[in-house]
Amino acid sequence: MKVLKFGGTSVGSPTRMKEVHQIITRDNDQKIIVLSAVSGTTNILVNLTKEFADQNKDKIKDILDQLYKKYEIFIQELYSTEHYHTKGKEVIDHYFKELRKLVSVPYKSGAEKAIVVQGELISTNLFINFLWEKEESANIISAFDFVFLNDQQEPDLRKIEEKLREILKEQKDHKFLVTQGFICQNNAGEIDNLKRGGSDYSATLIGAAIGADESQIWTDIDGMHNNDPRIVENTFPIAQLSFEEAGELAYFGAKILHPNCIIPAQQRNVPVRIKNTLDPDAKGTLITNEKNPDSVKAIAVKDGITAIKIKSSRMILAYGFLRKVFEVFEKYKTPIDMITTSEIAVSVTIDDAKNLKEIIEEISPYGFVEVDKNQSIICVVGDFVAERKGVGSSIFTAMDEIPVRMISYGGSKNNISLLIDSNYKKEALVSLNKTLFGL
Ligand code: ASP
Ligand code: MG
Repeated sequence: MKVLKFGGTSVGSPTRMKEVHQIITRDNDQKIIVLSAVSGTTNILVNLTKEFADQNKDKIKDILDQLYKKYEIFIQELYSTEHYHTKGKEVIDHYFKELRKLVSVPYKSGAEKAIVVQGELISTNLFINFLWEKEESANIISAFDFVFLNDQQEPDLRKIEEKLREILKEQKDHKFLVTQGFICQNNAGEIDNLKRGGSDYSATLIGAAIGADESQIWTDIDGMHNNDPRIVENTFPIAQLSFEEAGELAYFGAKILHPNCIIPAQQRNVPVRIKNTLDPDAKGTLITNEKNPDSVKAIAVKDGITAIKIKSSRMILAYGFLRKVFEVFEKYKTPIDMITTSEIAVSVTIDDAKNLKEIIEEISPYGFVEVDKNQSIICVVGDFVAERKGVGSSIFTAMDEIPVRMISYGGSKNNISLLIDSNYKKEALVSLNKTLFGL
């Protein structure tokens, strides 16, 4: 069995939804189809939650009316029979009634959770009706019934596996099982979500839970590229990546995949394939446990990074200094991405600067603190990149004209990271593309 996930743009219009049907019927295999919300919907629902929190009744009404109109047109174009126009209308009426109900009560923190997931409920219900109109053997299964979070608010793969196996046993006669990405149930039994972009994560969790042949992520690009195609002109899709490489790339900037979605795939060794709905025959990118030790695979960039340097002579020959500093970051639940140290200073980077002020205040007693905002991490990824001769020198050659603020080399076998001022980002990416890929 395969799991196929289609993102927001892949279900973003009636035409695109019909293409999804074409794609899933290209062969006869049984499939689980995971859908995102129609593109734009989740953003609108997030806005709705903000207006709800402010109890801005007029805005709430406007947002819902406008979104409803969009779906009215959507169903007109999606279905071709009167019967299914009525069905489609029932679907949107049902979920908009639910939305109006959710925002008609006094606001309570946490109320957002039930609101933002309605987009996936709508898209999957519209799509299942489309499959039924096409007389496909299909059914819908609710992600709320099997994607569970544990006490740490992390997906509980064992429980997902257990529940999903039960459900699949009952549904074995259907060729297509359609379910929602993004949606889950938290340990308090409430509806919750896997964070923005979480449908990828849903797909790889489901794939891992059932030991699928592969989990496919259908999106609007022909795979992961060797460099950021929004910034650099000459890029190409990478045919094959290891789980480690893809994990680094997903985390460091390659926006195609949810940063966590490689974890369950790697745990259960279920390949992940990225495919393009606009060009279904393109090879895409296959992510497996196979390593290819002699190549630099890709360059990715992550913006919005803040660098913090703590300089102190007390660090010399002292132990416990780093622990004290790191404890402050831990206290504010702020992950550190890069670290470099010298005998008298340590530099770290963070991407969540929400508690920067408090963090600086609390580390100041340990030394002189310097902060640089607007930084970018450039990450060069490949198997055993750090051990290959010449990679380091090629990177330095490429960065000849660019001031490098930090370097992290050898932290993992798959990654060399550089921190630069974001103003040099394009120049750095273009230059690295030239030296590392000859493009
Ligand atoms: N609809 C959710 C979002 O826009 C989840 C997803 O599309 O992956 O973030
Ligand atoms: Mg996405």
